Amino acid sequence: MLISLSIAFVCFYVVHMAGITVGYHRLLAHRSYKTNKAIEYIFVMAGYLGFSSSPMWWATLHRAHHRYTDTRLDPHAPRFGIWEAYIGWFLHKSYAEHLKPETCSKDMINDPLYKFLDAGGNWHKAHLLNSFINFSLRGVMALVWGWEVAAVSLLAALLVQQMPLLLNVVCHLPRAGYQNFNTADTSVNVGWVAFLTLGEGWHNNHHAFPGSARHGLKASEIDPSWIIIRFMKAIGLVSWMNEITINTKYKGPHKPVEVEIVSDLPTAVPAGLAAAQSLAKPELTPVAVLSQHTRSGNHRRPRLKIKQ
Ligand SMILES: [Zn+2]
Ligand SMILES: [Zn+2]
Repeated sequence: MLISLSIAFVCFYVVHMAGITVGYHRLLAHRSYKTNKAIEYIFVMAGYLGFSSSPMWWATLHRAHHRYTDTRLDPHAPRFGIWEAYIGWFLHKSYAEHLKPETCSKDMINDPLYKFLDAGGNWHKAHLLNSFINFSLRGVMALVWGWEVAAVSLLAALLVQQMPLLLNVVCHLPRAGYQNFNTADTSVNVGWVAFLTLGEGWHNNHHAFPGSARHGLKASEIDPSWIIIRFMKAIGLVSWMNEITINTKYKGPHKPVEVEIVSDLPTAVPAGLAAAQSLAKPELTPVAVLSQHTRSGNHRRPRLKIKQ
């Protein structure tokens, strides 16, 4: 019994985690590969049933994370506080002006399913709806397969929910890992995070090439999510994918470029840079440093003024 429940736990964990990595992240947020709507929904639902809340909300905020990495406009930059980066941002009530799906996620706002799950842009309602659906599912599972299976499924789903939150912090702590690319931000590759998140922990690679469906680039950087996408391509479920290899030339700045945000976005936090600089730790890159190479597809950066 214990062995079969352990196997069930691992299966539930992998299914929900793949829903986030292959569905929410690499497909919705980055559109790094193309598949049909049925496959998209299957992966997205697997993530949704891992307590990951509104898919549109997730993807929109993640796009902002790439666009504004390490600045005050980044939804979860650990340099401004571990608690806020871990869970504080998650508990806010609604989209800030620079995070509106109407401007950041035009490819999703008309999808009826994503629209419904976003609960009119009210984050608390969206999280409550997600919790309600998740707990209801486990209730049904308890009736059909017994409480042990439902408990194992719930445990796996709750653990999966914590993983992207953990990654947001750990993979932006420079001392926690290493960089393959000088991305001029705090992103690092962390092996144990990659193990727990099916390859998402190769986060410096990902910040260097956010549009790539493949995150693990070296032989030692195992990327199960990439293996899943590649398998789907082989059997015809994926029609196109963006694949980067370790030999792909990285065109990002080798030397950080100092920039000042002069965004025309209304919530550009007027005193943000000054405040951020006062908080900057010596071992970190200055907050006003942004890499300019993370632009891809849906990742439009604010206008930047380069300091000479
Ligand atoms: Zn990041
Ligand atoms: Zn990403």
